[in-house]
Amino acid sequence: MRCPYCLSSHVRLWHADGDRLYQCRRCHSNIKLFCSPVDVYDETYFQEHYEQVYGKSYEEDEPMIRSYALRRLKEIQKYVPGGVLVDIGAAYGFFLDEARRVGYEVMGVEIHEGSIRYIQDRFGYPVYRSLELVEGDVDVVTAWFTLEHMMDIEGVMQMVVSKLRVGGCLALGLPNGYGAFARFRKREYFRCRPVEHCTEPSLKGIRALLKRYHLRIVHTEIFGLHPERIGLPSRRFWQNLQKKLRLGDTFEVYAVKQEG
Ligand SMILES: [Zn+2]
Repeated sequence: MRCPYCLSSHVRLWHADGDRLYQCRRCHSNIKLFCSPVDVYDETYFQEHYEQVYGKSYEEDEPMIRSYALRRLKEIQKYVPGGVLVDIGAAYGFFLDEARRVGYEVMGVEIHEGSIRYIQDRFGYPVYRSLELVEGDVDVVTAWFTLEHMMDIEGVMQMVVSKLRVGGCLALGLPNGYGAFARFRKREYFRCRPVEHCTEPSLKGIRALLKRYHLRIVHTEIFGLHPERIGLPSRRFWQNLQKKLRLGDTFEVYAVKQEG
């Protein structure tokens, strides 16, 4: 078995209870071998499942999701201020709607039927079941907390770079498979890690993956600063330290496609 991020074959069994979880010894990304998306993404995924994990429904989270979207779009606009933007794992289309408002031509990629209907009924944006079906060059590809749900990372990346024009931007939001929670509270991490995550990458693993596909990282941002999860006070000082040490439980990377 190889690590899907850095391609190292030094992969060890990390956790054997229930679902087996493996960890790459080189980049510390973690990998779950058997991930069965069809079991998870049924009609209730964005209602009941999301609510179980985040304590409110996806729709109730709309204002927060839109404010995140605006922050992310401001970053993307520094590199690619307009053009065609494709959001993979578009969910209910809130990010697409904000992207449209700031001037991008938008389309979504989504496999969840309820979400496809929601986007089409409420916003009328085009939604495809696969990135492969998107025609023409794309200026921006985004995937917010989506890549970790996919088994065939290599296949997805090949498709992304085949669609993205040179100079185009890829933006990703990801759980940190080697953040503070995963490193210092392993037992709770194993218990809380969403079953539908096929992998949870480390920053090092993502750097290796993007480099392999000639994507130059232009910005990285650390999020998921929860010192209380590892037994520290929930204070700004500890959050800042966690951020500085790049030990947040989530992160975002922005990369630009190079010639090659
Ligand atoms: Zn690795």
